[in-house]
Amino acid sequence: MKLLFEEITGKTQFYSIAESYWFPAIEECSIEAATANVWVSRQDHDTVLVKGKIDGRFQIVCDRCGELFAMNLQSEFVYLATTRREEISELTDLECNEEDSLILYLAEPIVEVDQILREQALLAIPLKNLCSEDCRGICAGCGHVLNKEPCCCKVDISNSPFAALKKLKNQ
Ligand SMILES: [Zn+2]
Ligand SMILES: [Zn+2]
Repeated sequence: MKLLFEEITGKTQFYSIAESYWFPAIEECSIEAATANVWVSRQDHDTVLVKGKIDGRFQIVCDRCGELFAMNLQSEFVYLATTRREEISELTDLECNEEDSLILYLAEPIVEVDQILREQALLAIPLKNLCSEDCRGICAGCGHVLNKEPCCCKVDISNSPFAALKKLKNQ
């Protein structure tokens, strides 16, 4: 979805995107559902305020055990999209009382909503994905997914201190 500045007025316009086409393509990740709500309003001739909220649910591979698990994603953001050349340092100049808003410098007066949503979704997905905090991972010996089945490695006792004791006893 693209919004031209000329279509945006001082009155807040609301868009709801119930589809997930904007969701980023991520390796080993399949999207179950995603919706985005976007509010836009004109701040001044060169600047548009874009507020958004993303809700998503997807399957992703656990970095530790390699199994797919479901993850929810939620993100809210505020952008000031501007075609001004100079840096905007004082947000108050724009009568904008939004804190933590990001400034997006545009070459043309067009808000690429899909691109913003995609970027925000990417930011919201953690770098490390674990199915649970105490995921036990995969045994390096037998390759078992330890959350599902126990390790079946043959325990090698020949080098343990108890093995040494046994030897002494047998002598
Ligand atoms: Zn895991
Ligand atoms: Zn094992």
